[in-house]
Amino acid sequence: KPKVLSAKEHGIDPKLLSSNAIRVTSTLQENGFKAFVVGGAVRDLLLGVKPKDFDIATNATPEQVKRLFRRAFIIGRRFQIVHVMFGQDLLEVTTFRGPATEAAPKDEHGRVLRDNTFGEQHEDAVRRDFTINAMYYDPASQTVLDYHGGIADIRKKTLRIIGVPEARYREDPVRMLRVVRFAAKLQFTIDAATSAPIAVMAPLINNVPSARVFDEMLKLLMSGHAMACLQQLRKAGLHHGLMPLLDVVLEQPMGEKFVTLALASTDERIQQGKPVSPGFLFASLLWHQVLEKWNAYIAAGEFSIPALHLAADDVLNAQTDALALQRKIGSDMRDIWAMQPRFEKRVGKTPYKLLENTRLRAGYDFLLLRCASGEVEAEIGEWWTAFINGDEVAREELLTAKP
Ligand code: ATP
Ligand code: MG
Repeated sequence: KPKVLSAKEHGIDPKLLSSNAIRVTSTLQENGFKAFVVGGAVRDLLLGVKPKDFDIATNATPEQVKRLFRRAFIIGRRFQIVHVMFGQDLLEVTTFRGPATEAAPKDEHGRVLRDNTFGEQHEDAVRRDFTINAMYYDPASQTVLDYHGGIADIRKKTLRIIGVPEARYREDPVRMLRVVRFAAKLQFTIDAATSAPIAVMAPLINNVPSARVFDEMLKLLMSGHAMACLQQLRKAGLHHGLMPLLDVVLEQPMGEKFVTLALASTDERIQQGKPVSPGFLFASLLWHQVLEKWNAYIAAGEFSIPALHLAADDVLNAQTDALALQRKIGSDMRDIWAMQPRFEKRVGKTPYKLLENTRLRAGYDFLLLRCASGEVEAEIGEWWTAFINGDEVAREELLTAKP
């Protein structure tokens, strides 16, 4: 039933495969199971891109998978999957899923809540989201199994959802965000039938648990193409009233320049393979909300520093519920914001104390963004660049030159 492509036909470079992915598929195969690299990794291999992680699909049950590896853990999220670890490297192994059953529990809008039935490989392929994400690669025989015309769509640079688009979005509205992310990231065109229902169905995302929307948003913002993604979301009609954070990002006239700069620098860092912390990203996206409230508290008679902390509390409390911001991300954001007024104190021991702060780098990068957006005088950023990079003598000079 699937189209089978040989190494000559698909042209995947075996060097792009991780040795651990091969270790998992070959171990499963030696024990009599089917095992393939699947999903995003196959798509990336076909595009000649080194996949950032490898998912494995098999007909072995989670219990059977677990028994074959020393460090393997069954994770029960929406679907049961097995995490196989080699050192720091993590591989997700999933058992082929069966057809979504009629009896599967759904919410009142038709979103499938739980469905953990196992099935055949062709059934697993139908349940995946896009044709280009539904291909299987066997490293041993170097063949690709293509069930839904994924190869053709890769060549046409087209994103096409499998099955009836309306039904697939209803089952899982997050797929609407995924289309947009992949289109922006891969620079693919969205097939007309795939994109048509999105504008109308967009509000269904409101019923998805915020933690899942947050995960998908984070992937979007960290894709290295965040700006393009946000433009696509706007075009698709997916931005309005959907996610409080997106509204903030796309509809704040004051902060638009700041947010644009923050996302552009995030995109650049990710494209250069440099790390980006979600805390820094969200601290940037919400900074102008903090600024607004900070000024309001000062206007109401509060001292500057306590006013900043009150403002940070307000913004974090509002977003923690809406976005399911993890605690760690929230505390990183608070640290970055709290450091900002301290950059303005360029006298005495304060600057030296700041040098010892473990989060100086993030706070300083944030300051530079504020300078670039015109919110803070460029001179302050330049002073700190000189102070951080300077030796003892240079630092003393900077401190006396700028009382
Ligand atoms: P990325 O490169 O961003 O990781 P990916 O395609 O690997 O892209 P994942 O979220 O890691 O995306 O999902 C792995 C695979 O699982 C997808 O390629 C797809 O086949 C399937 N999948 C993921 N999410 C869904 C969904 N909401 N509906 C149907 N299938 C999905
Ligand atoms: Mg993936």
